Amino acid sequence: MTYDLRFIKDVFRKHYGTPDALYASPGRINLIGEHTDYNGGFVLPGAIDKGITLAIKTNGTDKIRVFSLDYEEAVEFALTGADKPVQLWARYIFGIVREIQKRGKTVGGFDAAFYGDVPLGAGLSSSAALESAFVFALNDRYGLGIDPFECAKIGQATEHNYVGVKCGIMDQFASLFGKKGHLIRLDCRSLEYRYVPFHPVGYRLVLINSCVKHELVNNPYNNRREACEAVAAAIRKRHPEVELLRDATFAMLEEVKAEISNENYARAGFVIGEVQRLLDVCDALGKDDYVTVGRKMYETHSGLSKLYEVSCEELDFLNDLAKKYGVTGSRIMGGGFGGCTINLVEEAKYNAFISGAVIDYQAKFHIKPEVYDVVISDGARKME
Ligand code: ADP
Ligand code: MG
Repeated sequence: MTYDLRFIKDVFRKHYGTPDALYASPGRINLIGEHTDYNGGFVLPGAIDKGITLAIKTNGTDKIRVFSLDYEEAVEFALTGADKPVQLWARYIFGIVREIQKRGKTVGGFDAAFYGDVPLGAGLSSSAALESAFVFALNDRYGLGIDPFECAKIGQATEHNYVGVKCGIMDQFASLFGKKGHLIRLDCRSLEYRYVPFHPVGYRLVLINSCVKHELVNNPYNNRREACEAVAAAIRKRHPEVELLRDATFAMLEEVKAEISNENYARAGFVIGEVQRLLDVCDALGKDDYVTVGRKMYETHSGLSKLYEVSCEELDFLNDLAKKYGVTGSRIMGGGFGGCTINLVEEAKYNAFISGAVIDYQAKFHIKPEVYDVVISDGARKME
């Protein structure tokens, strides 16, 4: 029921009357480029056909009233002031409004109702969909003239300052800049981006959610970042131009092998490989060569599992199942230790893979995995 405009209008009417306008903003996938963002490398996200549908109306008061259909809850907060709503979902909207105001822009009171169909907490960035829907809608309603990049930064700042998630810019960027039939190669250092054609004719993209999230001890994410920084620093002594691992080559890594731990050698090897793999995937996409794309996805999975060591039994099992059912490409999507695999599957193999994988996974782990089909689609937009 993505972007059901009649439905959201009816919901809005029950609470606030007739909306002025309707907006939509999607979640995202990332085809390849994992743990590359903090190494200054590239990511390759695309907006998906699932997102937030939002109806809005200015109300001429100094109050903001919002109804979340999915939580069946209405929240009201003042146009100014520091009192955050207690509901987490409303804090995203509060944060968006405050971050817009911090930038010297003025919004008025409004009423809004919204719902979404991006699974929450599954790694498809439902939170960015929510932020982007509101920042896009308010920017448009009030003619604020905030450029889309700044809109993405407003979403990111909301996560940092009002939710406590220190995320990068990819999710909000993809939600706002997404384009049907395209992925976006984003350079996480310069923030330059380029649309890459994505026309997987005869293939489907499907995510399988392992539905596990392993409790992490000793903060492995920070540990990985530190490993990357340590290797970049070792290389920099010989090659001053190497600011981040994105600038390093395998040859440079070999030069410092004796100076770094085996573990850090493996970690850095993954990152250097991943930066290159993403560029190779972009080349392959330009030629509609999805067999190569798929092979690179498997390579990424293997690297995340064996070199970067951020996989887990469940994700490795899902990856093995993909191989067993002849899936073209499969890998962990996201930071690891749980969450989804993203799979590029030939249409003819889709049914056997999905039904087989669900049964096999459930038999082994006694957890029913969730399956999300995704189609690369447009980013945030006005619907009516
Ligand atoms: P994700 O990986 O999906 O972004 P997060 O934990 O970052 O996971 O964000 C999920 C949170 O975003 C939810 O707990 C909720 O507060 C908010 N959210 C996302 N989608 C919706 C929705 N449709 N309705 C209300 N809140 C939502
Ligand atoms: Mg999120």
